[in-house]
Amino acid sequence: MGRAVNSKLLSFGDARRLVEEYALTLAPTQPELLSLLESYGLVLAEDLRADLDFPPFPRSTRDGFAVRAADVKTTPAHVRCIDEVKAGASSEQSAVIVREGECVEIMTGAPVPPGVDAVVMVEFTERTGDDVTVQRSVAAGDNVVAKGAEAKRGAVMVSRGTRVNHTIVAIAAAIGCAEVAVSRRPRVAILATGDELVDLNLQPGPNEIRNSNSYSLAAQVLAAGGEPMILPVARDEPVELALLLRKGLEADLLLITGGVSMGKYDLVEQVLASLDARLFFTGVEIQPGRPVVFGEVKSGEESTPFFGLPGNPVSTMVTFQLFARPVLDALSGSTPQPLNFAQAQLKSDFSTRTGLTRFLPARLGGTHERPEVELLRWQGSGDLMAASQANCYIVVPPTQDRFCAGDAVTILLF
Ligand code: AMP
Ligand code: MG
Repeated sequence: MGRAVNSKLLSFGDARRLVEEYALTLAPTQPELLSLLESYGLVLAEDLRADLDFPPFPRSTRDGFAVRAADVKTTPAHVRCIDEVKAGASSEQSAVIVREGECVEIMTGAPVPPGVDAVVMVEFTERTGDDVTVQRSVAAGDNVVAKGAEAKRGAVMVSRGTRVNHTIVAIAAAIGCAEVAVSRRPRVAILATGDELVDLNLQPGPNEIRNSNSYSLAAQVLAAGGEPMILPVARDEPVELALLLRKGLEADLLLITGGVSMGKYDLVEQVLASLDARLFFTGVEIQPGRPVVFGEVKSGEESTPFFGLPGNPVSTMVTFQLFARPVLDALSGSTPQPLNFAQAQLKSDFSTRTGLTRFLPARLGGTHERPEVELLRWQGSGDLMAASQANCYIVVPPTQDRFCAGDAVTILLF
């Protein structure tokens, strides 16, 4: 089979933009109701609204004495303590009337009674019997969060399209949502290709290796809120490959690994073309992952996006994050998320070659005063050990080949 496919090689920026724009055209999967913790890592299909004012009463943020700020303008000031209000106080206890020159002892999280407007931290007071000496003045509102200051009843606290992380879980719990509507996990078919591959429960024969990509991809899909479906490994043979590709195209998204390079048995593009695939790009000027392919296959009104990820294990991982992730996010109902770029100071010199945007496995460390990033030694795109030690990638622009210790470099955090 000849290489009948026209090549479409894009720069990294153009390829990423293309994927992001494509992702915007996708509809999310159907919503389903899940218990709060089951929704963790999935994307909200409904807004989360405040069921009460937040906070529902004026709340003290300190342990101390609730005072009228006007009474403690000049310090030291003396005020008379008439009562105590603790967190969870009854409405009678919190309705205590505090008059001029008076204060109440108050705890963090307790309701601030009417008549007082600020809380003096206990650290700035001295108490003898009922007499409280205030050493530091406060302004009205200090150490008090007014009723409804965070959110008014009925206000949207979290918008649909937000991925549920632990802070969203906290908000859902705070508004009493035991069940949350989220978009169903998109089904992601994973098809590894290659005559050299055997599954993990088998002993590789001479010149064979175990299929690790299907599993690393499944883990990445799970982490991104998808439901992985690992297909049997496809041999480098067009009939079997076409059969398994068809099967994979029944999913919401198909990820193929291997078989997209220039070798004689890299058949994925041609077989996809024979299934009337539309190919948006057939390569990106990056390393690792240059041969990455992106396209879709239409059947009737429906179309299934697919990625052909290069088979080298690190290429597979990196190209999943760079290109497949926004599509999976969109299918999951998530608003588009930009890549997490940051800058850090380089720990040691290194040089590379120009021409490609490179994503080199690196370790971000150092201290909070001086964060530093160090390039990891790696043997190229197949080096799983280097990838496993990396916690970020240094992004090398295609025009630069020399980097010195102390330089600010761009890093990508996944
Ligand atoms: P390919 O993209 O098919 O040319 O494969 C590139 C390299 O990645 C070759 O060394 C393959 O043996 C290796 N490789 C391909 N697929 C996998 C896989 N599923 N698991 C581990 N290594 C793979
Ligand atoms: Mg191969």
